[in-house]
Amino acid sequence: MHSRWDELTASDWDLALKMSDSTCILPIGILEKHGPHLPIGCDLIHVREWSARATKKEYAVVFPDYFYGQINEAKHQYGTFALSEKVVWELLEETCDEIGRNGFKKILIVNGHGGNPELLRYFIQTRLEKPRNYAVYFFDPQQDADFQKQYKALHKSDEADDQHAGERESSSLLYFRPDLAEMDRAGIESGVNQKRLSNPNVYTAIWWYAAYPNHYAGDGSKASLALGKFISEHIISQLAEAIKTVKADKKTLELQNEFFNRMKK
Ligand SMILES: [Zn+2]
Repeated sequence: MHSRWDELTASDWDLALKMSDSTCILPIGILEKHGPHLPIGCDLIHVREWSARATKKEYAVVFPDYFYGQINEAKHQYGTFALSEKVVWELLEETCDEIGRNGFKKILIVNGHGGNPELLRYFIQTRLEKPRNYAVYFFDPQQDADFQKQYKALHKSDEADDQHAGERESSSLLYFRPDLAEMDRAGIESGVNQKRLSNPNVYTAIWWYAAYPNHYAGDGSKASLALGKFISEHIISQLAEAIKTVKADKKTLELQNEFFNRMKK
């Protein structure tokens, strides 16, 4: 049985719902510059590969590539696809409603873009706004001490700067799509924190641009296939475990329904 929604036939549907325990993954990436050397769809490629590989270990249906998220901070760079806030919100809401209308009771959001988590957590919190017949989950992998130790042994550049198209992300892209990584260009722009704004204990939207005006944070030239293989295989096995957890979970929907029944009208 294929995992991807767009590769299933309508006559596969009942069996796909049964095999997935009515679980559908919504893989969310973005289209944005990734330094001078990685493809615009780097985050999308990551969530696509994680989902494809994890569902081979633990079956679930995977919604087609979704790249409509929060990316205002890269609008000064080519390749950025940034829809307006209302469209982003309504598209996400209606996408989940449509996944639900097709029989899925559990939607697992798998995110690959660093500018999305605030949006996605707020979206999930607001699912309690009114009764719905499905639950939304967020894949939120934690790293244990064992992972940290091996990661530190393989990682060469400054960890604080390694946030976007740097060593970590360049390594995992090298693992999934070496044909798309233009590694000889990784050093032509700076991914060092420019520290142009200092307001301790305060958050403001321009912080990212202040620090990383090239929309590049880290040093992609330090990338290695060994690091890429290690982090990618780790996250794929964590995702397979999360799918297993969501499939087995009956309590979330039960409590959600109890809550909706008690909700003051
Ligand atoms: Zn990225």
